[in-house]
Amino acid sequence: MSSVSTDILIIGAGPAGLACAKILAEQGRKVLVLERRQEIGPKVCAGGITWDGLIRLVPEELIEGRFREQHVFTSLQQTVVREAEPIIATISRRTLGQWMAKQATQAGAEIITETKVTAVDGLRVTAICGGISKTFTCSHLVGADGANSLVRRSLGLPAEERGTGINFQVPQQVYERMEWHLSARAFGCGYAWIFPHKDSVSVGAYSPQADMSAGRLKRNFLKWAAGRGFQLDELACQAALINYDYRGHAFGPVWLAGDAAGLASGLTGEGIYPAVISGKTVARRILDPNSDQSGLNAVLRRQAQHRRVISLSARHPSCSFVLMELLLLLLRSRLVSFHALEMAPFSPNTVNFHAGRKQKEEKPPRL
Ligand SMILES: Cc1cc2nc3c(=O)[nH]c(=O)nc-3n(C[C@H](O)[C@H](O)[C@H](O)COP(=O)(O)OP(=O)(O)OC[C@H]3O[C@@H](n4cnc5c(N)ncnc54)[C@H](O)[C@@H]3O)c2cc1C
Repeated sequence: MSSVSTDILIIGAGPAGLACAKILAEQGRKVLVLERRQEIGPKVCAGGITWDGLIRLVPEELIEGRFREQHVFTSLQQTVVREAEPIIATISRRTLGQWMAKQATQAGAEIITETKVTAVDGLRVTAICGGISKTFTCSHLVGADGANSLVRRSLGLPAEERGTGINFQVPQQVYERMEWHLSARAFGCGYAWIFPHKDSVSVGAYSPQADMSAGRLKRNFLKWAAGRGFQLDELACQAALINYDYRGHAFGPVWLAGDAAGLASGLTGEGIYPAVISGKTVARRILDPNSDQSGLNAVLRRQAQHRRVISLSARHPSCSFVLMELLLLLLRSRLVSFHALEMAPFSPNTVNFHAGRKQKEEKPPRL
């Protein structure tokens, strides 16, 4: 069995791993990223990014749709939330992944695709690459390997609080509006969405597993989608888990970032921004253990708020209905901003990908 030694080994070339790789490589560290997929980027996702989050961190040409209006529906009410700037934009995960991979490799990181990590033992990792088993050793190991993280499991950390996301990418469907459909009966304290992209529309649903099984979510979603005239029979139903069971990200020389660390929102399923922020934070802390982590702390505070709502709803399912209607009432009366649902409370320490840019085998859940 051949063996490779490197300084920093990152498992997973998603947003968390690539954000981490770029910063470390820029500082001259030897960085190797292992990715099981052939192509970097594609991932089951609605591709929604937020104004205070990723919108301002990526080049404008990556963005497919910008939405200053959010149409929100509950069983009893509906409202349109409007702002001067786009509240949410949509992005293709393939495009985002390819762009981030280019940034990381240009900084000097090496990415090896079609390499699946099969075992992690401390700082020793075994992977299958081109049918051959290889061993990798390193001085720092970063688990950025998503919601079913092997690195996380090697640390003995369970992932008990997770949600299920289901997505259908409907091609060539012209849809102008970004919509959120909250229904306690159908989606618990999750929701169904309609997110328009450039040449398609993402239609899907998310729910914490504490509220309902993946199978029930799918049944409820298909019924809801049929009621809105979506013809989904011929399309692939993609599903994946979202991990919001955060139990730390620094474990000596082993680190976790993104979904592997359980940093997504359990309420909305937003996870790209937390993945990027945590990937950057891990990189900076590897470079300097005393570096500032206020950006990640802000994400953690927002995530904890979202977790409290889920836990209330799981303990008292009848509360979900009241919570949804109350939320809409507060949005309508502008007592609560839509930004309260986002994972990016504005932080002056948020660092752009671009200096100088203007500021202001993942196991699918069983269906
Ligand atoms: C249906 C659905 C809709 C969503 N919509 C949104 C949305 O609109 N906005 C948003 O912000 N978030 C959304 N999310 C959540 C978001 O997709 C994730 O939170 C985000 O991708 C996490 O990034 P990550 O880098 O931590 O992990 P990932 O993006 O999952 O990347 C992990 C990488 O590790 C690789 N990997 C895994 N295991 C191994 C292994 N053993 N060996 C080698 N490589 C490995 C994977 O192939 C993958 O490339 C959605 C999720 C779902 C399921």
